[in-house]
Amino acid sequence: MFITFEGIEGCGKTTQAQKLKEYLESLGKKVLLTREPGGSNLGITLRKILLSMESQDITKETELFLYLADRSQHVHQIIKPALEEGSIVISDRYTDSTVVYQGYGRGIDPNILHLLNELATNKLNPDLTILLDLPVEIGLKRALARNLEDKISREEGRFEAESLEFHTKIREGYLTWAALHKERIIVINGNNEPEIVFKDILEAIKNRITF
Ligand code: C5P
Ligand code: MG
Repeated sequence: MFITFEGIEGCGKTTQAQKLKEYLESLGKKVLLTREPGGSNLGITLRKILLSMESQDITKETELFLYLADRSQHVHQIIKPALEEGSIVISDRYTDSTVVYQGYGRGIDPNILHLLNELATNKLNPDLTILLDLPVEIGLKRALARNLEDKISREEGRFEAESLEFHTKIREGYLTWAALHKERIIVINGNNEPEIVFKDILEAIKNRITF
């Protein structure tokens, strides 16, 4: 079972992915929680590069190839072996992030992105994707507060510096993409207390899969 979390900055992906891991472990399941970019050793280095680069120093294609390199290594070294061993894998971001950020956000052709994602993942698709949706202003406010509290992630602040217009494109891109993949992507309202969001996630998941 492979589950991914998606959504804009500050939507609560990391918090909810952690909650789901704990819940599934309480049911006696073996769970691997991982993330992109940065789920493998190579990925940790790529994440540092990606999140520290000034926009003028990296073309959108270069950025795309680095995300894909991160993903290919992640799938082959981490995700696939864990699935084969019977673990439930939860990833904080995956292929949909590329379609939305590099496609809807930066304007690269979604058909090309789809093919490149297939190459990077050897067609390993999530069984279920949870898209946490909330207004851009609220997400950015949360992300900013988090970065002020946490010096390490402040170095990763590049994307929060993007315009409100860019983040709005991302939110809308996610919703458009989710509507095209209703069988896989569940949209959950992320503009609630974490406990309520998690309750909504569990309810939605229980209608779709049995653990
Ligand atoms: O929120 P997270 O910790 O996943 O941060 C990763 C950052 O990388 C996000 O700010 C997101 O904007 C960016 N990203 C991107 N394209 C992707 C995946 C992530 O621009 N395909
Ligand atoms: Mg996060």
